[in-house]
Amino acid sequence: MCILICVADDLPKIAVWDPDEVSILVARGSETGELLREVQEILTIDLGAPATADAALLCFCGTRVELPGELAFLGPVEAPDTR
Ligand SMILES: [Zn+2]
Repeated sequence: MCILICVADDLPKIAVWDPDEVSILVARGSETGELLREVQEILTIDLGAPATADAALLCFCGTRVELPGELAFLGPVEAPDTR
């Protein structure tokens, strides 16, 4: 079973691994770069997922982990358009 990423309120940290639900809970409204970094850390350090050079999130089986709909628009971390 692949890892899920879910958005939740009232988390003690930006990202929390929930082994019971096989999911990573991320705090709603967190700063994007930090959130992705935290999630990637949980995946690679705690769960043994392969590390990637880009911002892609991988399950420990190597499958790409999709962000939940409300975070999907974030995509890879890019510099904001500051025109
Ligand atoms: Zn998987």
